[in-house]
Amino acid sequence: MPSLTFLGAARTVTGSKYLLEVDGQRVLFDCGLFQGLKELRLRNWSPLPVPPETIDAVVLTHAHIDHSGWLPRLVGQGFKGPIFCTGGTADLCKLVLPDAAHLQEEDAKFANKRGFSKHSPALPLYTEADAAEALTRFRPQPFNQKISILSGLEVEFINAGHLLGSSYILLTRQDKSGGRILFGGDLGRYSRPILPDPSPGVAADVLLLESTYGDRLHPAEDDGATLARIITETVARRGKVIVPAFAIGRVEELLYWIFKLEDEGRLAKVPIYVDSPMALKGLEYYNTRTDELDEEIVAMRRKLPRFTSVNSAMESKALVENDIPAVIIASSGMATGGRVVHHLFAGLPEPRNTILFVGYQAAGTRGRQLEDGAQYVKIFGQHVPVHARIEKIDGMSSHADSGEIVRWLRTLPRAPKTTYLVHGEVVAQDALKARITKELGWNVEIPSHGQKVELPL
Ligand SMILES: [Zn+2]
Repeated sequence: MPSLTFLGAARTVTGSKYLLEVDGQRVLFDCGLFQGLKELRLRNWSPLPVPPETIDAVVLTHAHIDHSGWLPRLVGQGFKGPIFCTGGTADLCKLVLPDAAHLQEEDAKFANKRGFSKHSPALPLYTEADAAEALTRFRPQPFNQKISILSGLEVEFINAGHLLGSSYILLTRQDKSGGRILFGGDLGRYSRPILPDPSPGVAADVLLLESTYGDRLHPAEDDGATLARIITETVARRGKVIVPAFAIGRVEELLYWIFKLEDEGRLAKVPIYVDSPMALKGLEYYNTRTDELDEEIVAMRRKLPRFTSVNSAMESKALVENDIPAVIIASSGMATGGRVVHHLFAGLPEPRNTILFVGYQAAGTRGRQLEDGAQYVKIFGQHVPVHARIEKIDGMSSHADSGEIVRWLRTLPRAPKTTYLVHGEVVAQDALKARITKELGWNVEIPSHGQKVELPL
C-alpha cells in the first residue's frame, strides 16, 4: 500500500515535506526549511529517515522558503533526481534559494566572528554552490497539464492563487486503482488584487490541507484605510514605517495598496524604498507573467515606477542612517534575517517609528516577539529596546482564512476519504478540524511530525 510520511509542517507552519512511497518509488512533495523556534530550526540539521539519493523526484507547490528552502540541503546530501514545479515557481526559486544560501553562509560567518556558536567552526546548512546545483534540477511545467513524473505516476499543477506560480498538485496513480492525492500547498484568497482566486478543487481520495489561519477570519476588507492611517500617523511623527515583508509576493500587494491610496488622494506621497534586490527581481517576474495573475496587476504595472530601489548594501546602510520619514520595505518577512534586521536594530528604540507586519509571524521568530508586545528583542547579540509602535495588518495575508478554506473545500466535487491538516499550529488545526467535521462531515486527521500513514489508494 502507498504510504505518506509527514516530515515537516506537521502541527507547525514551516518545513513542509511529505514523502510519498508507492510501488518502490519515492517522491518528496515540497522541501521546505523549518523556521522559528530553535527546536524547529534544529530539525533542518536532522537527516531524513530515508537516504536522499533514494528519493526519485521532488515536486514543489510554490517558492516560499518554508516549502522550497531545504532543497539545497537535500541536493548537498545526495539527492540526484529532477524537481518538478510550475514556471513561476522555478523563476522565484532562482531568487530565493541563492539568497537563502547566502544567508546561511553569512550566519555561519557571523557566528564564527562573534564566537557565539557552540560549533567551532560554525558551518552553513548549505552553500550557494548547493543552491546553484539544486537549480539545475528544476523541470518547470505549465499549469493544468498532466505530466508523467515517474513510472505510473502523473501530476498536474493547479493555480492556488497564493503566490506567483503557486499550485496545488494532483497526483494520480495511472494503474487500475487510479488513486488520487491532492497536495494542497498554501491556499490563496478570494477577491484579492494581484493574484487570481484559488482554482476550484478537484476530486481526490486524499487531501492535504493547510491550516495556518484555521482558527481565524481575516478582518473585513477596509480598502486600505488602516494602511493609510498607519503611514499618515508615522509620517506626522517624522518617523519611518518599517515593513518586514517576504521579498516576494507581499511586496507586490503592499505597493499596489500604497499606489492606489495615493492615486485616490487618500495618502500623501512619501518616499518608498524597496530595500531588497531580490524583491526587485521578483517584481520583474511578476511583470513577465501577468497572464497568471489578477487583471488588476495591469493597473499596478502602470503605477509601479514610483519607488526607490535600494540595491547595494552601502545604499541600504545609508538608508538605515537616514532620518527622513519614509516607508521601507525589506525582507525577511518574520524579521529573522536579511536587511530588515538592520533597520529594526536602528529603528526599534525610536518612538516615532512604526514596525508594520503584513504577514504571518511564526512562533519563535523576532516578528512574533514584537507582535506579542516584547519590551526588547535580541539583535546581533544585543538587547534592543522596543519603543517604536508595532502595528499589523492581517488582511494582507496571502493565506486563506478559515471561512475561505471551507469555501474552497465546498468546490471539491466529493469528500476525500481522508483530509490531513498540515501547515498550521496546534490551536488553529484543532479549530479547523472541528469546523470541517461539523460543517462538511468529512474525515479529518492531524498528523504529527514524522508520522507515517498508509494511503487508501
Ligand atoms: Zn506560502
